[in-house]
Amino acid sequence: MKAPCVRVERERGETTRRQLAESDLIAEDLEIVVEGGWLFVPIVDPDGVPDALEVVEHDVPTRETPDMPVDILGFEPTYERLGDIVLIDEDDDDRAREIADALVSSAFPVKTVLNRASKIKGETRVRDWDLLAGDETETVHREYGCEFALDVARVYFSPRLATERHRVAEQVVPDERAFDMFAGVGPFVIPFAKRDAQVVGTDLNDVAIGYLRENARRNGIEDRVTAIAGDVREVASEYEDWADRLVMNLPHSANEFLDTAVSLAGDECVIHYYDIQHEDDPFGPGEAAIRGAAEPEYDVSVETRREVRSYAPHELNVCLDVRLTR
Ligand code: SAM
Repeated sequence: MKAPCVRVERERGETTRRQLAESDLIAEDLEIVVEGGWLFVPIVDPDGVPDALEVVEHDVPTRETPDMPVDILGFEPTYERLGDIVLIDEDDDDRAREIADALVSSAFPVKTVLNRASKIKGETRVRDWDLLAGDETETVHREYGCEFALDVARVYFSPRLATERHRVAEQVVPDERAFDMFAGVGPFVIPFAKRDAQVVGTDLNDVAIGYLRENARRNGIEDRVTAIAGDVREVASEYEDWADRLVMNLPHSANEFLDTAVSLAGDECVIHYYDIQHEDDPFGPGEAAIRGAAEPEYDVSVETRREVRSYAPHELNVCLDVRLTR
């Protein structure tokens, strides 16, 4: 079948394969092909491939492994991977158990299988999980060349937002001052600091802040990261007029924090504002709330209106990139 592949000279094949594997970019259900001095490595996300590598469409066969989950189950289960933990979302207990057993006995590298047991909830946005296999909920997840240690039972983290976070991180320039108001374990903070920004991250969840500090060390950028446990509304007075960039990933309630955001903003500041709204008007309420908080002190211009993903029937998770200019 035709699939997006990284094309690389044979001599550089193994180094490149390892680099792609570290970022979880290799399509494991497809074979790597060698042809005419080139290696074609099938990948899952062309956007995630570093610019220095060439991505082409190429014919690659499906992998003949008798013990992938699909071979054992007879159907392809839906799951997400978080490091060596597999997350599933099954209401039927028997089916959940069947999938977990197949995942563990397959050739798939899996330490723990967790089934969603609640929606994300409370101020810390952590969900309950049923442990179906293994006993550890802590892992190290890799995303676009960054490593994130986290405990999925104690902090919020969604691997689904990787492409969106990368889109935002690519806008960061060296030496800018960025503030993530709801930082979690640092999936915005760490890539921002890797691009040489000075970054402050706050979170109410002190477990998440512990991981954020560990992740700053892991990724070698602790000198550019300040991690503060607490309510951003109480921390903000130390950083008034400070930020060139703000991240507000607390959909459903970000509007309640816009006065704080405006107090953090410097003379020129871009806000990445995440929201969940009805598909009929996904951007209007967010834009109105931002204008209400920032005008007339700032000129407000919306630079991007982006649908990140579908959240529920007729509801969208969206992002507004908004520039404030004093
Ligand atoms: N930015 C991270 C990410 O994208 O994975 C985490 C986002 S999660 C949806 C929202 C985070 O905001 C949670 O970790 C929660 O603990 C934190 N939070 C909620 N209310 C807060 C507040 N008043 N001040 C600081 N952090 C808060």
